[in-house]
Amino acid sequence: MTAEEIIRRVKSAGVVGAGGAGFPTHVKLAATGIDTVIANGAECEPMLRCDQQLMAAHPDLVIRGMRLVVQSVGAKRGIIALKRHYEKAVAALQAELDRQKGTDDASAYPVDLFIIEKSAYPAGDEFCLVYEVTGRLIPEAGLPLNVGCVVQNVGTLANIALAVDHETPVTSRYVTINGDVVSPRTVRTPIGMPFDKVLQLAGGVSRSEGDYAVVVGGPMTGHLVPDVKHEAITKTTGGILVLPIDNEVVRFMSRSLEQWTKRGKATCDQCRDCTVLCPRHLLGHAFSPHEIMRAGAYNINVKNSVLTGAIMCCECRLCEAYSCPLELSPMQFYKKMKRELAASGWKNDRHHRADLTTDDFREGRLVPTERLVERLGVRHYHEGPVVWDDSAIRTDRVFISLKQHIGVPAVPVVTTGDNVTEGQLVASIPEGKLGACVHASITGRVVEVTDKTMTIEA
Ligand code: SF4
Ligand code: SF4
Repeated sequence: MTAEEIIRRVKSAGVVGAGGAGFPTHVKLAATGIDTVIANGAECEPMLRCDQQLMAAHPDLVIRGMRLVVQSVGAKRGIIALKRHYEKAVAALQAELDRQKGTDDASAYPVDLFIIEKSAYPAGDEFCLVYEVTGRLIPEAGLPLNVGCVVQNVGTLANIALAVDHETPVTSRYVTINGDVVSPRTVRTPIGMPFDKVLQLAGGVSRSEGDYAVVVGGPMTGHLVPDVKHEAITKTTGGILVLPIDNEVVRFMSRSLEQWTKRGKATCDQCRDCTVLCPRHLLGHAFSPHEIMRAGAYNINVKNSVLTGAIMCCECRLCEAYSCPLELSPMQFYKKMKRELAASGWKNDRHHRADLTTDDFREGRLVPTERLVERLGVRHYHEGPVVWDDSAIRTDRVFISLKQHIGVPAVPVVTTGDNVTEGQLVASIPEGKLGACVHASITGRVVEVTDKTMTIEA
């Protein structure tokens, strides 16, 4: 099969980056000048298991997806990066690689494992991962392809394999339901399944009403869900977590920008702890979070490099949740600044340094996952059992977002009253735009189409 055909099938299947913001995968597969493809199996968010369990259960899909990406971008090699303590996943992937040794595919598109020995946060951040695996430093505000790399989440690789080999579109995704639920588990949910129904798959919430909060995503990069009936699974949903209302994660996520700003201006003592532990600072970027706190304290709002440096913040939340002894958040200042820069049409003409040197103390300053989960008050959930449940889940109503990806929303190609079958294309990419196709995740009738969502009833 040609690279063009691989890209065509991936585009038709609506594959997007499953581990992050949902960048359309077909665009990444057309990259040039790439020598290394890295599979991101680091899964550094505490409490989530979907990636490591997927690698353990379907190593064939992950490896097949990897070989297809290596072929598509013309790379020399593929490397699946995962942590040493994901023992089942390591064993399953190694056994599958051994089984495929000597085949034409294995010779043409070689794939190896890269074992991350130390469990640190944020190991899955692309800048950190590329450095750990290849020793290359992505330039400030750059991309992995600036250093000859493409990074794909392991869930994306499985979707690529299904799209190319079986022309199967993305209609479901693996989601970890963890925290105070009756039976924590990872399930394969239809895209568009509302969170209240998803929680029932884990036996429901085990705390009384008003005594818990629900977080979508991980405890570091996720957000609170105000109403579980009105938010639904997308192609990028990795976790739904139920946490006590007084848990650290909930307490921090509940704070408004105004509260963060007020605290920051009043109490930052410029100790620099946020800077010395910041993963971007440790990679040598000219990026010092304590400086934006100083700028915030004095209401400096000219676009100097301290403020425009906001575009280098990866929003890992380490400064807010771990580093600052006074519970302040440089990240919130950066997020606000990013919005202002985008609104003003500012173009990055200053943060492109590529001659980087990592901090001499980087190795010792990586934040161990065990310490982070202790600080977040989630150790019990992080270390507890999570069942892997790969059964087909049925649901009677789905709310499918038309924008589950970076780019413009998909444009509906069906209308209210139409009957659709599972896997049918229901919204496509507007001509010449960046976006991703969307498919029906259940068989049924379209009952509502808005500019944001399509509702289908079984
Ligand atoms: S934000 Fe916190 S960690 Fe950073 S300089 Fe201020 S007090 Fe120190
Ligand atoms: S969120 Fe905080 S720790 Fe993370 S990159 Fe931004 S400033 Fe650094």
